[in-house]
Amino acid sequence: MPKTSVEVKIGNILIGGQNPVVIQSMTSTKTADVTQTTAQILELVESGAKIVRITVNDEQAARAVPKIKDMLIAKNCFAPIVGCFHYNGHILLEKIRECAESLDKYRINPGNVGFGELYDKNFEIFIKHAINYNKPIRIGVNSGSIDEVILSKLMDENSAKSDPEPANLVMRKAMVKSAIVSAKYAEKLGIAPNKIVLSAKASDVNDSIAIYRELKSLTKYPLHLGLTEAGSGTYGIIATTTTLSILLNDGIGDTIRASLTPGPGENRTTEVIICKQILQSLGLQQFCPTIIACPGCGRTNNVMHREFVKEITNFVTIHTPLWQNKYSSFENDIAHLKIAVMGCIVNGIGEGKHADIGISLPGDTEEPCAIIFINGRRVQTVKGEDIITKFKQILEEYVDNRFSVTKTI
Ligand code: SF4
Repeated sequence: MPKTSVEVKIGNILIGGQNPVVIQSMTSTKTADVTQTTAQILELVESGAKIVRITVNDEQAARAVPKIKDMLIAKNCFAPIVGCFHYNGHILLEKIRECAESLDKYRINPGNVGFGELYDKNFEIFIKHAINYNKPIRIGVNSGSIDEVILSKLMDENSAKSDPEPANLVMRKAMVKSAIVSAKYAEKLGIAPNKIVLSAKASDVNDSIAIYRELKSLTKYPLHLGLTEAGSGTYGIIATTTTLSILLNDGIGDTIRASLTPGPGENRTTEVIICKQILQSLGLQQFCPTIIACPGCGRTNNVMHREFVKEITNFVTIHTPLWQNKYSSFENDIAHLKIAVMGCIVNGIGEGKHADIGISLPGDTEEPCAIIFINGRRVQTVKGEDIITKFKQILEEYVDNRFSVTKTI
């Protein structure tokens, strides 16, 4: 399905329309801590985030925003910075002009603006500032804080039915309605349609998919995708990947985020790396060569094979930015490179033949030598204690021979 949303400019980045999907991330530092927040934004951008959101929850955070922007620019980082506002966004934008000016986009949660007349008044002030400072907004609905007026009305209507729908279906409708009603209201207040991005994040995979499909069918605004409170570890990654992949595969989604809780000691950049891997797995964008490895079986020398896969993965991860700098063809060619690390000689070449270059390691009962293959054809046999080192050398030579049109500066 082709992407059909309108284009929205966020800082120096265009999203929506036919533009590539953009990876977004969010800091976990106290925004008032300028040094730490700047450092984390730089880390996230370095790992591949193109847009970074920061919490602007109080006056100290708001006053820190222009300082953070200055520090980023001093480090040659021009990634758009989005201010995440809840409850007091209208006050902070009104009071701290430099914050309103410095941010590249404002995020507002319609469930956390106020109720009734207060909602209208606060929302109006918020939108007025977006218009005055010529900033786009994201209307970010969240299942944990749905607009209570909309939700209660729909719940009441539902319970009055002879055959009421399950509560989660009503919740889906409330989230879609909240996003659309707020967007229409923002337009009525004078903001241009090409200044609006929508999101409606639920924590359940099926709810999220249904909500975004509905939003896509009803609106032309670019959509920011995410599964909120995805959790951590394997489950968080799989739930996020499932949600984003199904939607992206349908042509839904203009920016994405993996809202994962980092494990103890885990870097925040994991969520960015996961987004890159989702886009690469779907064939939407290529960031680095792919390592193909068989799962191993009863004929594999599992210790050697697992060690080898890990080593080659690290080697390619480290070398990717170096190759990126050295070879002009990186984006089009080297990132598409497939490298196979197979666990036995008898089946390895056959099972890994779709790789550009690969190695078949000796299985438990095979001769202690490994076979190098290129485009499915055996080209060399390597023996000895240092097969890994030899394969790394062969790989580097292969890359150099194949992509040696060096960058012209
Ligand atoms: S390539 Fe060999 S080691 Fe790997 S799964 Fe297939 S048969 Fe087993």
